[in-house]
Amino acid sequence: MEDPVEADVTTAEVYSLPECDFCQRQGVEKEAHYDGKTNLPGEPWGNMCEEHYAQYGTGLGLGVGQKLIVSREDKEQLREQESEAYQRDLENGDDLG
Ligand SMILES: [Zn+2]
Repeated sequence: MEDPVEADVTTAEVYSLPECDFCQRQGVEKEAHYDGKTNLPGEPWGNMCEEHYAQYGTGLGLGVGQKLIVSREDKEQLREQESEAYQRDLENGDDLG
């Protein structure tokens, strides 16, 4: 169950993982599992894969970084909401006669 009062500041839900900024610079396509502050000067924030997070990451928390988690549940919920809204539209259409 989710507690909306105590928000989890160490994780961020995403629909799909972005690419690691550092790998990308080396011409490598790799999914980033972290989005956070880096310890590099002139590089305050970036998407990082596990390896690069270990190298450049500064931790997890509010204003520091988040572990990216792919949220499949949200997608399914969204689809359910969409179909519900669609059915509601159909019902409303019937009312208009
Ligand atoms: Zn990387």
